[in-house]
Amino acid sequence: MADFVHTLPFFYGNITREDAEGYLKQAGIGNGLYLLRQSRNHLGGFALSVLHSGRCYHYTIEREPNEKYAIAGGKSYTSPVDVIDYHSQELDGLVCLLKKPCNRPANMQPKVGLFEDMKEKLIREYVKQTWSLQGAALEQAIISQRPKLEKLIATTAHERMPWFHGSITREDSEPRLQNGLRTNGKFLIRQRDSKESYALCLLHEGQVMHYRIDRDRNGKLSIPDGKTFDTLWQLVEHYSYKPDGLLRVLTEACPRPDGDIGRPLLPRDHPGLSTVLHSAAGGIRSMFKTVPIPGRKKSQGSRQHPTDNFNAYDTRVPNSQADSIEAMPMDTEVYESPYADPDELRSATVDRKHLFLEDGELGSGNFGTVIKGIYKMRKTEKPVAVKILKNDDNPSVREEMLREANVMQQLDNPYIVRMIGICEAENLMLVMELAELGPLNKFLQKNKQTTMKNITELVHQVSIGMKYLEEHNFVHRDLAARNVLLVTQHYAKISDFGLSKAVGEDQNYYKAKGHGKWPVKWYAPECINYFKFSSKSDVWSFGVLMWEAYSYGQKPYKGMKGNEVMQMIESGSRMDAPVNCPPEMYTLMRTCWTYKADERAGFTVVERRLREYYYDIAQ
Ligand code: AMP
Repeated sequence: MADFVHTLPFFYGNITREDAEGYLKQAGIGNGLYLLRQSRNHLGGFALSVLHSGRCYHYTIEREPNEKYAIAGGKSYTSPVDVIDYHSQELDGLVCLLKKPCNRPANMQPKVGLFEDMKEKLIREYVKQTWSLQGAALEQAIISQRPKLEKLIATTAHERMPWFHGSITREDSEPRLQNGLRTNGKFLIRQRDSKESYALCLLHEGQVMHYRIDRDRNGKLSIPDGKTFDTLWQLVEHYSYKPDGLLRVLTEACPRPDGDIGRPLLPRDHPGLSTVLHSAAGGIRSMFKTVPIPGRKKSQGSRQHPTDNFNAYDTRVPNSQADSIEAMPMDTEVYESPYADPDELRSATVDRKHLFLEDGELGSGNFGTVIKGIYKMRKTEKPVAVKILKNDDNPSVREEMLREANVMQQLDNPYIVRMIGICEAENLMLVMELAELGPLNKFLQKNKQTTMKNITELVHQVSIGMKYLEEHNFVHRDLAARNVLLVTQHYAKISDFGLSKAVGEDQNYYKAKGHGKWPVKWYAPECINYFKFSSKSDVWSFGVLMWEAYSYGQKPYKGMKGNEVMQMIESGSRMDAPVNCPPEMYTLMRTCWTYKADERAGFTVVERRLREYYYDIAQ
């Protein structure tokens, strides 16, 4: 969502329509007094409430699939504030022009909705249980995948609610509601035979009423003739504060018989029960209780195709939003180190007997060829990439490769290609995690339909890996799109540590002894002029990498020689923005190309800026 909206003084957060009317009327007279609030039925949407001739009018500002905002049928804008600006000049269907914002009373913060409040805990719990992650791996999974996780949680959270009874029949639902206390307004939701619809079963004066909840072509849910909602929990939240056509409001969730959710919607592998829902704040807290958390099991042993794994989960929720969620890095086998499993003993060497090389090259580089293989570990088999040294008898090349291996061995991050071990056999071989889709620049050259969102997601992942390197005092020195390898279209890893160096914490740069065979077009001025390499010079290279990514793998400074590029940089010029590059991302590239290293941002800042932009466009 346009995050800055939360800071606007006339944004009230998740308040009801009635509350909005209260605030507007309290603020007094004045046609065109308005406030903005969060939509309670459209994910990521807003509602605009306007006072005119003593009456309040409410307009939904929906978030459209193209990430723009509009009042239904009206013009689209990049933010809800632009919609408001427009309607302060043009009626265009509104009852009056928007004249004056009605600001929140002093000390009132925008109201956080029940789900917003639970979301954080739900996401954490979900990632922890689904992928058995903890510590840094858990944090990085959340940072890199938050928009997708939020959508996933939003569209599946109902499965964890005690009022959701899965696919039971109408006949089965009635005794459940009649059992125990027969409070008016006690309710449950069941899934009907068709996966596209549900039923709300409500106890009223001792009788069970059944209301159908249909899903329309756009995936929206509604009780016939009622309001539409993106999710079941929004529907429940709405009808629990207002009957809006039902015989009464929903009061108390009917608990489902222990562990029984009808036909299970998800494999229930996880015995652990979450306590997160207990701590949920808000008026309908009592409706929630701890229930088994369904989740995907991590593949053990055999390799599962990440998207297969993911789709198996998704298709349970026939919802346009859930369907659009892509595979995540955590679904692959290379998110965590193979040695994260304590049963797999870490060793810097790979036994040749356990390594099976396949035909066909993945690529070739300075040292020789890289081919695909299988490494048999104690419990699992891993597909691997094996870099095979060609001039095995040349001690300096050998040393170079061992130096690369030495650096890689010290790194362990989901966004960096990990080394599995060195294998001394017919040749010296470096066994690494496999990133089968190959270099980012080549992938983008061939896949021009890749969206800006997808590119930003990948570039953000590279910044996470680089932030890790910066924190661990390593400089990469060859950061470029050709050295970012893709595991999937949504998962990037930094590779090629042939030039990388560890730097001291006190002296945070590496001084090269002389000029080498350098990728000059990716190098910061201080590398060329003073042979000084630091994380800040990696930031410069990262700016060039961003340029390559947003220009779909084009060569930077096309047609120019190294010394011409240097002159261009010294004269203060920089590359132009790639065609259609989001302006925010070009501004970030220019920040990376700050001449003086001291004044250049570090990866902490770069990662944060990418993260903010990615969340903004991906929500
Ligand atoms: P390098 O010698 O590191 O530059 O690698 C040469 C080429 O081999 C790369 O451009 C990739 O196409 C391929 N390659 C290297 N490492 C891997 C890997 N871990 N997974 C898949 N392909 C790789």
